[in-house]
Parts: sequence; structure tokens; C-alpha cells
Amino acid sequence: MPSGGCHCGAVRYEASGEVLHHAICHCSDCRKSSGAPMTGWIAYKAEDFAVTQGRAKEHASSEHGRRFFCAACGTGLYYVNEAALPGIVDIQSATLDDPDALPPGAHIQYAEHLRWTETLDQLPKFDRFPG
Ligand SMILES: [Zn+2]
Ligand SMILES: [Zn+2]
Repeated sequence: MPSGGCHCGAVRYEASGEVLHHAICHCSDCRKSSGAPMTGWIAYKAEDFAVTQGRAKEHASSEHGRRFFCAACGTGLYYVNEAALPGIVDIQSATLDDPDALPPGAHIQYAEHLRWTETLDQLPKFDRFPG
């Protein structure tokens, strides 16, 4: 059963059942909210998702979009939008305990992508840091 949580450990969650979709979002809202050039989102039915420890703080990031994050450490955790995605919880997939286990299947909101992300794979790669 996939589990995950924030960086400080105050908020923990579990998901179960079928993954509805897992995508890398390139929209500017996600970029600002996460502080990262793109954000992974893995979706489960709301009844298959539970916060098991602590409580996430809610931020209304758009008319219907609600982003939930740890108030202690700031980690973005999940998103609910009852207008666009009724009955679904979208989890920031990088907060899973094993984020490598469930690969994404698509890029979404690609109209807003940063152009330099198109060539990320061509950059030099260091196991840690250069030099
Ligand atoms: Zn935290
Ligand atoms: Zn987005």
C-alpha cells in the first residue's frame, strides 16, 4: 500500500487501490506552489486515500483548487478540486515513501512548460556534485 508524507514527518498518508493517473504537471500554479520546475501528481479515489498522522493545512490556490501542505515544514502533499476532479485526491508523487515505484505516464499542462526542460537529459550528470 503506497504511503508517504512530508519532509518533517508531521503529516503522513496512505493510499490504496487503483492508480487513476500519474502525470508530471508543467503548469505555473504547480511550479510556484512546489518551487520546482515540474510536479508529479498521482491520483487515487478520495475513499482510497487517508491522512494517517497529523493534519495538512489547506491553501485555496484557485477558485476550486485546494492544495494541502504541511504547516510545519511546508511540503506540498495533495490537491483536491471538486469541480475539475470530483472524488479524486491528487498526491504530490515525490512525497511517496517509494517515489520510484510508480512511474508517471504523461506530461500535462505542457503548454506552460519551461523551454529548457526539453533538453534536461542532455545536461552533464554528477552522482553528487561537480569537482
Ligand atoms: Zn512536515
Ligand atoms: Zn499543475
